[in-house]
Amino acid sequence: MGSINPHQIPPSPLPSKTSTTPFWRASLHALDNHRTTPSLPQTCDILIIGGGYAGIAAAYHLLASPEAKAKFASGAPKPNVVLLEARGACSGATGRNGGHLRPSVHTRLPMLIEEFGLEKAVELCEFEDAHVSAIEEVVEREGIECEFRVTRSFDVYTDEEEAGRAKETYLRLKGEGVAKSTMEGLVWMEGEEAEKISGVKGCVGCFTFSAASLYPYKLLTSLLHITHTTGNLNLQTNTPVTSLTQSSPPTSLESSSNTWTASTPRGTITSPQIILATNAYTSALLPEYTTKIVPCKGICCHIVPSPSCTPPELVNTYCLRLYGGSHDYLIQRPDGSIIVGGGRSHFLGHRGEWYNNADDSSLIEPAKCYFDTYMQDHFTGWEESGAKVQEIWSGIMGYCSDGLPHVGEVPGRKGVWVAAGFEGHGMPVIWLTMRGVVRMMDWGSWEGSGVPRVYETSRERLESGRDDYRAKV
Ligand SMILES: Cc1cc2nc3c(=O)[nH]c(=O)nc-3n(C[C@H](O)[C@H](O)[C@H](O)COP(=O)(O)OP(=O)(O)OC[C@H]3O[C@@H](n4cnc5c(N)ncnc54)[C@H](O)[C@@H]3O)c2cc1C
Repeated sequence: MGSINPHQIPPSPLPSKTSTTPFWRASLHALDNHRTTPSLPQTCDILIIGGGYAGIAAAYHLLASPEAKAKFASGAPKPNVVLLEARGACSGATGRNGGHLRPSVHTRLPMLIEEFGLEKAVELCEFEDAHVSAIEEVVEREGIECEFRVTRSFDVYTDEEEAGRAKETYLRLKGEGVAKSTMEGLVWMEGEEAEKISGVKGCVGCFTFSAASLYPYKLLTSLLHITHTTGNLNLQTNTPVTSLTQSSPPTSLESSSNTWTASTPRGTITSPQIILATNAYTSALLPEYTTKIVPCKGICCHIVPSPSCTPPELVNTYCLRLYGGSHDYLIQRPDGSIIVGGGRSHFLGHRGEWYNNADDSSLIEPAKCYFDTYMQDHFTGWEESGAKVQEIWSGIMGYCSDGLPHVGEVPGRKGVWVAAGFEGHGMPVIWLTMRGVVRMMDWGSWEGSGVPRVYETSRERLESGRDDYRAKV
């Protein structure tokens, strides 16, 4: 398939060889740099490319989930699955994010209703909401220690006008009985009450809703461990796929006899089914995604209060909507330290620093001091906390031209499945998406997958000239 690239940006490079070190990866799991077999297998039944949240979730749902185990118990053969990761496990966005599982479709609800209609917009809200209990369920069932905590998330407005618009939309949707199930869990506060309860200085209004915080690297490497030991996953880290080619061209595009060959510096591997869980880097292998999923850099840090101070505990998680378009996301870890990311107001105008930038070996220069006195500046009671940035890092997200991930079988490439483009918001989207992709591969149909249809990758989306990010910046 030819590359569709109306804006003349090149396909993404592969993940950079070196990278900044996120707090989450300070101590590495035994599988981080693991290779199950010394050499690369030459073939497999299903090849997963990418060892982040999406790739590991796919492997778990294929080999080790209760649904997979029930299938094998009823006589279905266990597939031979290989996972190739360019660097270490969870060394991409998953090991660099804010640890915030925050279903927040409601803020985009009016736009989504306008674009897709009420039913599909509500489906999206419910899909994200379902991730809090779905992740809680797997954490409990598998006994995973990953600092998982169900919280209320505060969506904090500091600008009167923006807050007024948000409240007006909320009241309208609620009053009209629109999206009842979604609006029920959403609470609006304003004025002194909002500032006091949120603990955020200058808060003029806020929403609160159900969310969770966690240690993403621990969750995903634990699931990788389970899938590796009980599911016989063959894991090959430090193995970048440099190209993907069709090995037996079919007589017609709909032929089912395709096989695909992934080339790596360690040799090739051939498989009839490929799952691309390559997120921001997808267009390095599939050029038709070049302007559809664009690598964009973000910045995040770990803030620790002085050992001699005990600032107020933050029982909730946050999104702070500050001046200049910053939407900062923040959680508190059980030890009282803070993970906060964002800082967009400091770098949005410096396009080359973040847009179409796949290099996580450096910080975003204009934003690297943004968090220095963040807690003192924004949180009541933290003024004398002595809180300091202990680690700061960057990470690469896959931003989509139409704001939605691309999921499903790639048009014109039978047997190649994609699940990528989760932007800065993969935590409440990826788990059930990957369960759905595995079901689609098994059942040969989108029906029953549980994945919102608006995520479906399609020729129409690939050929669309729409480009929300380019229009905004
Ligand atoms: C700074 C930052 C903060 C964030 N904060 C949050 C947050 O608080 N909440 C939230 O919901 N989301 C957040 N996100 C987004 C979230 O982390 C992502 O949506 C999610 O982790 C995506 O998972 P993934 O598996 O699709 O991608 P990744 O974790 O990026 O995994 C893709 C993997 O594929 C590998 N790969 C790519 N190409 C190849 C190739 N050719 N060969 C072999 N391997 C390859 C990469 O090395 C990488 O490990 C944040 C992201 C960043 C960068």
